[in-house]
Amino acid sequence: MNILFGISASSGIGMGKAFILPEERERIIPQTAILPEEVENEKQRFRDATQTVHAQIENQLKPLDANNLQRVIFETYLLMLTDPVFIKDVEDYIQNKLINAEQALKIKTTEYAEKLRSSGNDYLAERSHDIEDVFDRVQNVLLNYKQFDIEKIPDDCVIVARAMKTSNVIILGKRRIAGLALTEGGVSSHVAIIAKSYGIPAVVGLENISQIPEGAEVIVDGDQGEVIESPELAIINEYKTKIKTAEKQRQKLKVFFGKPALTEDGTEFKLYANISSPEEAQLALDEGADGIGLFRTEFLFMNALHQLNDEGGSLSGAVSEEFQYEAYRQVLQLMGEKPVTIRTLDAGGDKLLDSKELPDLNEKNPLMGLRAIRLSLFSPKIFRTQLRALYRASIYGNLRIMLPLVTDVSQVDTVRGIAKGVQLSLKSDGIPFRADVPIGIMIENSAAAICSDCLAPHSDFFSLGTNDLTQYTIGIDRENPTVAPNYNEFHLAVLRLIDTTIRNAKKANIPISACGEMAGRKESAIILAGLGIRQLSMTPKQIPVIKEMLSQFTMQELENISTNSLF
Ligand code: PEP
Ligand code: MG
Repeated sequence: MNILFGISASSGIGMGKAFILPEERERIIPQTAILPEEVENEKQRFRDATQTVHAQIENQLKPLDANNLQRVIFETYLLMLTDPVFIKDVEDYIQNKLINAEQALKIKTTEYAEKLRSSGNDYLAERSHDIEDVFDRVQNVLLNYKQFDIEKIPDDCVIVARAMKTSNVIILGKRRIAGLALTEGGVSSHVAIIAKSYGIPAVVGLENISQIPEGAEVIVDGDQGEVIESPELAIINEYKTKIKTAEKQRQKLKVFFGKPALTEDGTEFKLYANISSPEEAQLALDEGADGIGLFRTEFLFMNALHQLNDEGGSLSGAVSEEFQYEAYRQVLQLMGEKPVTIRTLDAGGDKLLDSKELPDLNEKNPLMGLRAIRLSLFSPKIFRTQLRALYRASIYGNLRIMLPLVTDVSQVDTVRGIAKGVQLSLKSDGIPFRADVPIGIMIENSAAAICSDCLAPHSDFFSLGTNDLTQYTIGIDRENPTVAPNYNEFHLAVLRLIDTTIRNAKKANIPISACGEMAGRKESAIILAGLGIRQLSMTPKQIPVIKEMLSQFTMQELENISTNSLF
């Protein structure tokens, strides 16, 4: 038996066999000079790789019927793979420059894609992504590079890994996972957030995970932040009892189901759910959510991109207007009259989207870089597509559009201008939509909080993103376990900024909610409630827990606790 100590990232207890997640290798394209006598061999390697991909795509094509959109894409790919001009160009490059096949292919693919992009023709510009996609596959064959296949993860296992890329976190919703034991990640990291949504116990910040052998029995104690490898029988029994007790506790919370969230003296709160996929909207209803307070749409994009890596296609193909419209409509219809706050793409930073349609900036400091609303305004085509899908879906329910990481009034005004343009285009296409969808903003850094009085007249509502607000205010990476002890949501600076924002929202008479992790933890929800927040949005499973907590305090008691926390 071996006990590893870490940080609790998602509560609960999970037991299962260890599955060691392979590290994803970085794909590096080598550049090597070759000798004249090696030219023929390099050309042959390139031809063989092209044929391998051709055969793979032909196989993928077989089951698709004639009008399947994917089929059209694959057929284009096959034409590209047999294009004699391109093939000859790559081969000539190998010969003339005496360079390896991988490098010649990289240079020629970039050159052709650039030509198409700058052709001034929308159709040809779109094809640039296809040429990059298909020859990327050839590059992978040349490099013998394989992406990890999610399907290889067995159900009911404990995933043991150094890190889980945010884009890999979608695994959690796809497989039945008993627990997570990770070296990297913090309490408000995205892996922690998604693990909580799916009720997967998780411990992060673990050192020495290499001591856990593949297939070993593992207990993940997400309450204590411990991972026990090869536990003795007595320990297993002890944990089985703990699981039963926790289940009884959950059953007790069922008394709150269908009842409003009230303090002991009857002040009503609205408790909303944070979701990352349309499927989770049902989980939210099951836990008695009053609506959706945060739909993180970037995970919808990541999920679609993941499929795209398996099947091919471009970002605009995978996350098309139609695809998004269906996802948003599904959530709005399910929630009926209940409010549904959908956040526009919050990609960039630690949530990188692996797509060639987004700029590859190789940023030194991505959290300070082109992320969230900045990225959307930088890539207006992707943003417009999302807004069109949102407005089209708006007729099915009570939609609110929320913008992430806003810092300037001009950003909100620009978005309103783009939204107007989208509405005009829908009108001219004869497509119905609601023109009165509120557009609100997240308050996620000090600039936004301090200037919330200026932002309020331009915003229909505020939502406190306390995860980023804490990260940016204290200057501490929320994903980094080494500095996790300093990641303090109760830091006076954070609480004062929250207080300022609440006061400014009230002065401007606009609604304010909180949707960061603070809203779903008892000890921090107390403070938010006492400071004046009446709408809290959290992982669905926490809704009954917070309802119970509120029922145990009067408003005066909550206010007293919060006031003390500000000094
Ligand atoms: C936040 O920052 O508090 C928030 C809710 O957004 P995310 O966790 O997705 O960054
Ligand atoms: Mg955030």
